[in-house]
Amino acid sequence: MSCSGHHHHSDSAFAWGSVWNGLLVAVEFAIGAWTGSAALLADATHNLSDTLSLLLAWGARVAARQPATAERTYGHRRLTAICAFVNAVVLLGTLGFIAWEAVTHWNDQNPLKYGVVMATAAAALLVNGWTAWNLQKGSDHDLNTRAAYLHMATDAGVSLAVLAGAGISAVTGWRWIDGALALVIVAMTLRSSWPVCVESWRMVADGVPANIDLPQVRAALLAMPGVTGAHDLHVWSLSTTESALTAHLVVNHERLDNRFLGVVHESLRSRFGIAHTTLQVEASEPPLCHGCPLA
Ligand SMILES: [Zn+2]
Ligand SMILES: [Zn+2]
Ligand SMILES: [Zn+2]
Ligand SMILES: [Zn+2]
Repeated sequence: MSCSGHHHHSDSAFAWGSVWNGLLVAVEFAIGAWTGSAALLADATHNLSDTLSLLLAWGARVAARQPATAERTYGHRRLTAICAFVNAVVLLGTLGFIAWEAVTHWNDQNPLKYGVVMATAAAALLVNGWTAWNLQKGSDHDLNTRAAYLHMATDAGVSLAVLAGAGISAVTGWRWIDGALALVIVAMTLRSSWPVCVESWRMVADGVPANIDLPQVRAALLAMPGVTGAHDLHVWSLSTTESALTAHLVVNHERLDNRFLGVVHESLRSRFGIAHTTLQVEASEPPLCHGCPLA
């Protein structure tokens, strides 16, 4: 199969994976609420976070293709960071609620409808297992597909655990297994969604991108030919892949020098991946400003 064929294949696997996952989420939430199974609710939340992250990744690609306009001079890239942040906060709230449900119903004496829980977990196992199997076929060459495959295989394992747990509870009457499984799934989901929350907040709050070291950027600017000072330095994210920089450079050049500006732009682009740079070039005498008015 050709290289593009592989990509097409995993694209459709992703698309079908998210459709089935969306249906699964709805069924799991409904039946989890009806039966009172915290494990099903936790699995539903986890599958929801999977589906939303697929949709957000797709949305980010679409938004990054939209050109900037006169009204939106940066385009719509920031939208995906805002969506990711709101999504992460809602997810954290839901996880907290489910953990609370699991703990407060830990010792409930009334049995769950174990047959219904098992049937739903079996459906989840089918969907996650089918998605994993589809991804596995394309996972030899593509690192992303391989990561997605391993994730879906883990999810299938979780569904199997919920299925087995409900079976054991039905036989032994140990209701707490449901709560324990819910807490494990909550912890797993928390582990994957907390970094998304931190990173998206960094973008929403105009923080320096995680992969850029500001002192190194400052040092690189000061090392440019003829630069004697650098101040009012700002670096922030335009999107998950693009960064912007503004800075004032004090130079001892005789006159305006486009070649110098080109060297600075290219070095920031190649060393730090900063694609959008705006520089204010200042002569050293007389001194113009005293750093950033925001600092
Ligand atoms: Zn998952
Ligand atoms: Zn520009
Ligand atoms: Zn200045
Ligand atoms: Zn400033």
